[in-house]
Amino acid sequence: MVLRGLRKRRGPLEVLRGIDLDIPAGQTVALIGPSGSGKSTLLRLLMTLERPDAGSIEIGGVPMWTDPRTGRPAGAAHLHRVRGRIGMVFQHFNLFPHMTALRNVAEAPRHVLGLPRAEAEARAREYLAQVGLADKADAHPAGLSGGQRQRVAIARALAMRPDVMLFDEVTSALDPELVGGVLEILQELSASRAMTMLIVTHQMKFAERSADRTLFLDQGSIIEDAPSAELFRAPRTERARQFLQAVI
Ligand code: ADP
Ligand code: MG
Repeated sequence: MVLRGLRKRRGPLEVLRGIDLDIPAGQTVALIGPSGSGKSTLLRLLMTLERPDAGSIEIGGVPMWTDPRTGRPAGAAHLHRVRGRIGMVFQHFNLFPHMTALRNVAEAPRHVLGLPRAEAEARAREYLAQVGLADKADAHPAGLSGGQRQRVAIARALAMRPDVMLFDEVTSALDPELVGGVLEILQELSASRAMTMLIVTHQMKFAERSADRTLFLDQGSIIEDAPSAELFRAPRTERARQFLQAVI
């Protein structure tokens, strides 16, 4: 994943002020920083939910907003292809309440990828098992704990077999006793190196232990970018030092 000169303005405020970043395939990167620093905005740009004002994004060598075949601005078909390579899980899981866990996970493989029902459901079972919920396939979201619901949301994103997974504070809305189970899943996914992962988190111990690399974003700029062990042991900027002291 290659980002060059990414900028995003919201009204008078420049929320991202020129982000340059190279993330090799399979790397797990933690994104930390104060509230309002632009973390969610960056993920929304990477998810194609919003368009940058300037700069470029490439995923697996494929430009996001330009159709490489024509060199012209990307049309709907190109964006659809790019989006298919990226999965995202949000803080507030938005499962379909009227569907079982199985159907929640099978829905996109069936209707977006066009897999036959049996195949989509087999795939859904595979990913529910991966997040430790093989026995909850027939449960509705209302019958699951917050942590289980968030794991279904992760399985749902994984079932599209993306190259890149984006996680935006996926444990922030959970009761403390449910956080560990979700972080464990992220840790396993990261260790498998099957995908590139970008994780916005306030769980600093998790970032330190599980992410190859940590970025510290402040006021729309990446002001630290280092192997996690290094960044947490010896942050270079006063701003990051203060932030880490306040949150740990
Ligand atoms: P973070 O995720 O790091 O807390 P965000 O990316 O959500 O930061 O927000 C960055 C800045 O953009 C903040 O100043 C926030 O108030 C502003 N912002 C976020 N979303 C919107 C929006 N939809 N409209 C206007 N301003 C927004
Ligand atoms: Mg945010």
